[in-house]
Amino acid sequence: MLHTILFSGGLGSAYVAEFLRNQGIQPLLLHTDTHWETPDTYRFMEVVSERVEGKLIYRSDGRTPEQLFWDQHLLGNNRMPICSHMLKTNQTMLWLKEMQSLGQAVTLYFGILSGEQCRAKRIQSRYEAIGQTVRFPLLDIPAATTEIIREFYRIQGVMTPDAYDIGLGHNNCSGGCVRAGLGHWAQLLRCRPQVYAAREDMERRFNLEVAPKCKRPGVYSILKRYGRAYSLREFRESIGAGNELRYGEDVSVPNVGMACIECE
Ligand code: SF4
Repeated sequence: MLHTILFSGGLGSAYVAEFLRNQGIQPLLLHTDTHWETPDTYRFMEVVSERVEGKLIYRSDGRTPEQLFWDQHLLGNNRMPICSHMLKTNQTMLWLKEMQSLGQAVTLYFGILSGEQCRAKRIQSRYEAIGQTVRFPLLDIPAATTEIIREFYRIQGVMTPDAYDIGLGHNNCSGGCVRAGLGHWAQLLRCRPQVYAAREDMERRFNLEVAPKCKRPGVYSILKRYGRAYSLREFRESIGAGNELRYGEDVSVPNVGMACIECE
């Protein structure tokens, strides 16, 4: 049996690896790579892989979300998370098929934290539909919060991904996840302006280069606000003008953003 963790590079899936190792299970760590991660995320994944003596494998179709959006003539966002479906879920499904063709049984583990039952249910129904066994060990451990997991690694002398130090709620795609909400983007602008700028530029270029060729020409955006497309440029300018007071400066409060359904 291959005990395989869908390893996003976040704290939840890392802690599942530690949990399994403590139970005498040598896990396999599967990372579906979007090539949008930070070097710090790859560092953390390597460290965890060594700690738990679990092989780390990467799967990817070679594209970043941006390349996918250009190919598909669609800008991914929370209403249409095509990067999550095509670069993460599809890669996982392909890997499962490969294992099946080799006659290799797999149990999939997810680092969903206690209190995220809704995410767990969605994942469960997706994978059980193809007869795949899934497990969520942290759902039954209410004490396994992000803060406690960070403390666990601090005591072990392991540097956790810096995304958590700057108040981002997850560590996916450098924090510049197209599914994230306004609070998350505000935090990203403050703490990783270069990532915000890259996504803003991607959105601008998409509207120049791709939108005119789309089935439904129009303005495409990652965010939606006031019932319309709302660009990252508009949001940045609104923050700059002091119009976004509800998005405070307290980086100790994580701005939980959406991410791939399997992530964390
Ligand atoms: S983390 Fe966000 S941007 Fe990255 S693949 Fe998932 S949905 Fe897309």
